[in-house]
This record gives sequence, structure tokens and C-alpha cells, in this order.
Amino acid sequence: MRRKHRPGRSPGRRPPMRGMRRRGHRGIFKPRIQKELRRANHLNETGDHANAAVIFERLAIDAHDKNILRHAPMLYLQAAHAFILSSQVAEGVERARTGLEILAETGRWHALQNAGQRTANLLSELGFTDQAQEIDQWLEQNLAEHARINLSEGKQDFSHGKLPPKCPYCGATVRPDETNWINSTSAECVYCGSTIQTK
Ligand SMILES: [Zn+2]
Repeated sequence: MRRKHRPGRSPGRRPPMRGMRRRGHRGIFKPRIQKELRRANHLNETGDHANAAVIFERLAIDAHDKNILRHAPMLYLQAAHAFILSSQVAEGVERARTGLEILAETGRWHALQNAGQRTANLLSELGFTDQAQEIDQWLEQNLAEHARINLSEGKQDFSHGKLPPKCPYCGATVRPDETNWINSTSAECVYCGSTIQTK
């Protein structure tokens, strides 16, 4: 027989996580969401971009609704890239714009430039030159309007170790230049918020 255990009820104990956690190995998302992210990244790797896109999009909307603006834009961009790779280009461009707009609203110019450029490159590599140009123009306008001088912000100077190629928690590709470094040996995954240690 299974015994029901209610940790919240025992005196002196509290549920381990309350509200949003910014840092830590477990990230800000519940294990269930990390599992879904891992599944979507796996689907992407196996070429099932259409199903990956649906999961990324759901998680992006969910994070956006919960005002988790640190990660929502990156999830929209993951959805966008998966949509584009599955030839649903209009959907992809729309999600990319949503993600890039949140990055602009929150003043993350460095991330905006990197993520925007990657989206434009992907479109152009796949032959969607009009859409690539659209993203390029949007980027140019926004980055010009909001001062290029801020682009160096968010870049850290300290030398750091080598990160694993994939986030051990959600399976996303880790890009050292787009990662939020915490110190020289750890960085935050931009997708799931987990702390990734250098090797
Ligand atoms: Zn991650």
C-alpha cells in the first residue's frame, strides 16, 4: 500500500520551491517543463521540427503568460527556428518577431543582435531571402534606434572555462557568447535557467 505523504503539512517543513527561482541547478522551471524542453530538443535533433515547434511554442506562451521574460523570448526563438526548419516559415517569422520584440522591450541588445542574426542566417541558408531581409531590417532599425553603445553591455570580461556543447538539463545547444555567465566556472542556460558548470 502506498502511503500518502504531504510534505507541506509536516511541522517545520516547507515546500522546497516557492515562486520563481532565478538560479540554481534546477533552474526556474519545474522538472516537468525541463522534461518537455528536453523532449523538444530531442525531436529537433531527430529532424521532427514540426512537433518540436509545437512544444517550444507552448512553453514560450506559458513562460510569457507567467511574465518569465528572461526565458520567454529565447523559447519563442527556439519555436521560430523549429517552425522555419519544418517549412512553416510565416509562423516561424512571427514567433521570431515576438521573441525579438521582448528582447528589445527588456533592453537585451546583445542577445537581440545574436538571436536575430541567427534567425536571419537560418532563413537565408534555407533560401527564404525575403524573410531573412525582413528580420535584418527590423534588427537594423531596432538596434540603431536603441543605441549601439549598449551592445557591449552584458558582455563579460572575465576569462571562463569551456561549457558543455549542450545544456545537461534541457538539452539545448549552449552558445558561450549568448550565455549569461555567472562567474568563470558557471553560466545560466538561457532556455531553462539552470546553472551549467564548465568542464
Ligand atoms: Zn537548459
